[in-house]
Amino acid sequence: MLNDAIAETHEQRSDLPGKVEMQMTDYAQFWKPYAGAVSLTFDDGLACQLQKAIPVMDGAGVRGTFYLSPRGRDWEQRLKPWAEVARSGHELGNHSMSHTCSANFTGGAGGLESKTVEEIEADVLAAQNRLAQLAPHQEDWTFAYPCYQTDVGRGASRQSYVPVVARHFVAGRGGGEYGFANCPDAVDLACVWAIAVERMSGFEMIGLVEELTAQGRWVVLAFHELDGARLTVGSHEFKMLIGYLRRRSDAIWTAPLGEVARKIAHFQATEPQRLSG
Ligand SMILES: [Zn+2]
Repeated sequence: MLNDAIAETHEQRSDLPGKVEMQMTDYAQFWKPYAGAVSLTFDDGLACQLQKAIPVMDGAGVRGTFYLSPRGRDWEQRLKPWAEVARSGHELGNHSMSHTCSANFTGGAGGLESKTVEEIEADVLAAQNRLAQLAPHQEDWTFAYPCYQTDVGRGASRQSYVPVVARHFVAGRGGGEYGFANCPDAVDLACVWAIAVERMSGFEMIGLVEELTAQGRWVVLAFHELDGARLTVGSHEFKMLIGYLRRRSDAIWTAPLGEVARKIAHFQATEPQRLSG
């Protein structure tokens, strides 16, 4: 009985590598000449990103996506450095005007639970109006859900606002599960999975990227602070990751979220059967 159970487990396990290998082969065809792709994304337009992430990335020729909330009367003045970042080849993204997340963070009212889909849409489009002035050359825009949260309302009347993002953006960056990344044939571009990298070592980020791109996946990493107090990654760890991406640039495609999304959108619209056939 026990032997049977063990044999069965082995049988199931020996079944797995074959399946994974088949997918790898197919996805390799899609990414050619690369094995997979990585997008580095940064939320909230933080000064530490300007000071510590961008110079390292520019030195290595690695471009990323920076999600901004252009709220307040001084938005133009405050976000001026980001116009230069966009001109130098990085991508800017929409992080909504009000950065509304769940009321459960702070208690009280006024969170996503009390918003409507229409209110969120107006907020996101108001932000887009300003961001388009900041980077007028940028054609395609992506959105990052504040706090990775994609719903408004609560309980029985809770609703997704992913359709709003699908209508107005090339892609939306949501949250995800640790150790998993996006399949080019299956990912919903309006809610792309991302891995939050706070507290990770350089070794850990490199390991995730190496393993998941070897599986032909699109790895999206979500950063907030560098050397900061919360949701933070050390700048030494970040430099390790960027050095690795530069060394592996022949095999791993590092590109802003919108660029990778555009390639996948084209593929999903024209050849959806190619990978499964
Ligand atoms: Zn945010």
